[in-house]
Amino acid sequence: MSRAEPPRSGAELADETEGIVAFWTELSLPGLFDVHTHFMPKNVMDKVWSYFDSAGPLTGSVWPISYRFAEEQRLEVIRGFGVRHFTSMIYPHKPAMAAWLNSWAADFAARTPDCLHTATFYPEDGATEYVEQALTSGARIFKSHIQVGNYSPNDPLLDGVWGALSDAQAPVVIHCGSGPAPGTHTGPEPIAALLQRFPELPLIIAHMGMPEYGDFLDLADRYRNVRLDTTMSFTDFSEASAPFPKHELPRLVDLQDRILFGSDYPNIPYPYLHALQAVRRLDLGDDWVRAVCWGNGAALFG
Ligand SMILES: [Zn+2]
Repeated sequence: MSRAEPPRSGAELADETEGIVAFWTELSLPGLFDVHTHFMPKNVMDKVWSYFDSAGPLTGSVWPISYRFAEEQRLEVIRGFGVRHFTSMIYPHKPAMAAWLNSWAADFAARTPDCLHTATFYPEDGATEYVEQALTSGARIFKSHIQVGNYSPNDPLLDGVWGALSDAQAPVVIHCGSGPAPGTHTGPEPIAALLQRFPELPLIIAHMGMPEYGDFLDLADRYRNVRLDTTMSFTDFSEASAPFPKHELPRLVDLQDRILFGSDYPNIPYPYLHALQAVRRLDLGDDWVRAVCWGNGAALFG
């Protein structure tokens, strides 16, 4: 599949699956490690989909959901791609929602052994307690969405949360860049302030920090536990509105062991294969692609 058009039929999906398996087989990888995928309670996923269907995060932009299937089929498809480990990124947009999402995700991880047990939080009373409880019950990765949650990462109600996550060295995938649309608290400054207070915090900056790529790479240079995920980055879709600056490419080589492949499956407006090709066409070498698509995730999560 050369064009970045979402698969529309079973035959197209079969072709794409073949292409994805060839991608990692040619690199002699055991499969793919995808740190950024969305599985969530059905009523929440339905709401996310209707949001993308209506205005969408980019006003005026078409955002077809490529893999709008029931949960069972979504699992079957991603496993067919050869994704050996993935996540269930959940995130609240209001108070009194995170603990419920966490209990759903704990149950999902228990019945989905190839999914890393994922959890989330919101600045609210009790957040430290439910995050500690999630850690005790085996959560391996957390998600924070600064734009959708519309909160400051430096909200005092989160101090205990960051402390617990830093102590446990539990990675947090954090959507904090100002793409696809800026929020009150998005951008590199609030994260720089957060890292000043919690310098060992294992953040995974989602979407390479799009569109503030360079500023977030600076933070990764400064703080050894800061990583970035490739989610949606480098694709035709993102390059059209927020191109990754060519002059920053050598820095991706320096940070080879801290960049992790992410896809945003199933909510992507192009084929999954295109996200992989977008990573490879950066032309940073096969070893780099192997580290990003498998090795770094495997090393981080054991
Ligand atoms: Zn996402």
